[in-house]
Amino acid sequence: MLTDAPPRKDGHLARFLESDRIRSLDLPQNGRLLTVAKSVEAAMKAGKSADVRRACADFLAATSDFYRVPPCAVRVLAARPLRVRENWATELFGDYNPETMLIRVWMRTAVRKQVTSFGTFLSTLCHEFCHHLDYQEFGFRDSWHTRGFYERSAALYHHARGTPTKRLFWVAMPGGRWRIDWPRTSRGI
Ligand SMILES: [Zn+2]
Repeated sequence: MLTDAPPRKDGHLARFLESDRIRSLDLPQNGRLLTVAKSVEAAMKAGKSADVRRACADFLAATSDFYRVPPCAVRVLAARPLRVRENWATELFGDYNPETMLIRVWMRTAVRKQVTSFGTFLSTLCHEFCHHLDYQEFGFRDSWHTRGFYERSAALYHHARGTPTKRLFWVAMPGGRWRIDWPRTSRGI
C-alpha cells in the first residue's frame, strides 16, 4: 500500500493533510457489521452473485446508517471491467464513483480470473465505502489515499471482520508519499 502524493492544486493541500491526520474512525458498539459481513462471506461461498450483491447492499446500508450519510449503491461484477476509476494500480477489486455514489466490486481478478478471497473482497468494500465517507461525511472535494485514509478503512475492515486492528507503520517515500512497512506492522513494534 502506497499513499497518493500530496496534491499540487491550490486549496487541496489543506484537505489532503486533514485526511492524513484523521487516523481513526468511530465504530458501532454492536455486532451488526460483523453479522452482515458474515452473510457476505456465506453468499460468496455459495457463489450466487445476486446473493453477494444483496449482502453487500445490507452491509453498506448498515454502515451508511451508522455514519448518517446517504446510502451508496453497489454493483457486484463477476470480473473486473476494462474501465476502472481507481487510478491506483494495486486496487484491482473495486471502485467508487462520487457523482453517482456507486461502488463496484468484482469477484474475479482481471488477468488470471482468480476468485477474490473474502478478506480481500471485504477490505475492498470497506475501502470504497471510506471514499464515500470522505465526500459525504468529511466533505472532502477529493478522496485521497492518505495514511489516514488507509487507517480509517483498516479500522472499519477489522471491526467488520472481528479481527484485532494492527498499528500501521509507515516508511517515507520520495515525493511525499508513504508506504506501509509490513514487517514492522506484523511485529507490532
Ligand atoms: Zn481507493
